[in-house]
Amino acid sequence: MSRVLFVSHSAQPGGAELFLIDALRGGPAGWRAAFLSDGPVVATLARAGRAPLVLPAGPALLAIKRGSGPLSILRGAAAAMRAGKALAVHARDHDILCANSQKSLFIAAGAAVAARRPLIWILHDILTDPAFSNINRRAAVAVANRAAAAVVVNSHASGEAFVAAGGRASLVHIIHNGFDVAHWPRASEAAGANLRATFALDARPVVGLFGRMTPWKGQHVLIDALVQAPGVQALIVGGALFGEEDWATHLQRHAQGCGVADRMHFAGFRDDVPTLMAGCDIIAHASTSPEPFGRVVIEAMLTGRPVIATQGGAIASLIDHERTGLLVPPADPTALAAA
Ligand code: UDP
Repeated sequence: MSRVLFVSHSAQPGGAELFLIDALRGGPAGWRAAFLSDGPVVATLARAGRAPLVLPAGPALLAIKRGSGPLSILRGAAAAMRAGKALAVHARDHDILCANSQKSLFIAAGAAVAARRPLIWILHDILTDPAFSNINRRAAVAVANRAAAAVVVNSHASGEAFVAAGGRASLVHIIHNGFDVAHWPRASEAAGANLRATFALDARPVVGLFGRMTPWKGQHVLIDALVQAPGVQALIVGGALFGEEDWATHLQRHAQGCGVADRMHFAGFRDDVPTLMAGCDIIAHASTSPEPFGRVVIEAMLTGRPVIATQGGAIASLIDHERTGLLVPPADPTALAAA
């Protein structure tokens, strides 16, 4: 049985990290995670009996964002080298290293070389998204092409983007996220009543939008759509996991400015998303950039609630328009309201 060390720079509960929790919960005893910063996922895994390693890489590395330029990347490089050394020590106790994020790819690649272990990159992003800086994209592809034995992508769309960005097609393996279907809460009247009681919502239909607070998740599109859909109220669920608190504040002001604040509730981060989805009447997905996988869309479908999702990336492979949901164009509040 292979001993696998999964490496993630972030221990915040975004989609990639939730995937990792599921993988470790269901995986063999020899699988372990190492995080390059502390966060809530560390405690979640410890509670599940899968206590991870925490090897803090420092703020310079975490400060690198999706669109960071060369200076910020250089500042993070020294921190990355130190983290790589610390990781290499633990890599020697494992057979395979699996990088679960772009930042961790750079660090795990160094550690894999030092420890002479094969490296797998689990790619959760659409690399051709213009939100990624050119330097970021080219560096990740170059490292993957040279150092990775395989690139596991979460969707066909993520794999295509990797190849379009210069990645070697022979490295790509598609492995979708898995879900514990047997234990998924199903939509019911009781779930709807509970949701209304929890958030003091009234009897009008509730449209739920689930996703972290960041502009590309398109919460503003739902707010704009509400203006054109006076009969409904909205529940926006998700936290500012990666320091985008300004966006959360902006959205609340925007809802007030549009005169829909009294039909909206911002719930912040919740760890009971499936239960909340089961209480909504409709789940909307409004991402303005191509979605690499879209866990929230699958989760919503599993509850049995109708889904309106936004075209782009992997979404077309999840929803068959007018058969298993409705698809709308990105950043189009009128189409969302009509759907
Ligand atoms: N999620 C959560 N709590 C929240 C909002 C979202 O646990 O308050 C979860 C959601 O259920 C989903 C994940 O975060 O499993 C988001 O994954 P997705 O693929 O939709 O987006 P990503 O964050 O990976 O871009």
